[in-house]
Amino acid sequence: MVTKTPRIPIPQAVREYVFERNNYKCRSCGKTNRQTTLTVDHIIPLAKGGSNDMSNLQTLCENCNRRKKDYYDPRFKRYYS
Ligand SMILES: [Zn+2]
Repeated sequence: MVTKTPRIPIPQAVREYVFERNNYKCRSCGKTNRQTTLTVDHIIPLAKGGSNDMSNLQTLCENCNRRKKDYYDPRFKRYYS
């Protein structure tokens, strides 16, 4: 049984750190912050027990982030499968 981690706002300094660690590029498609809007993503989703720790954060562009959420969100799956 996985305990859901509460979602906390990610501080700006942490976001900057994560973007910088990934060279301001989406880790999935490689687009840069000049080509797309970058977001901070939880590698293991909070709903699956992932943490808010920096080691669980990565840079994804908004498209890849949305695609990943659709994949992980069981409610979304129910509507579309
Ligand atoms: Zn991307």
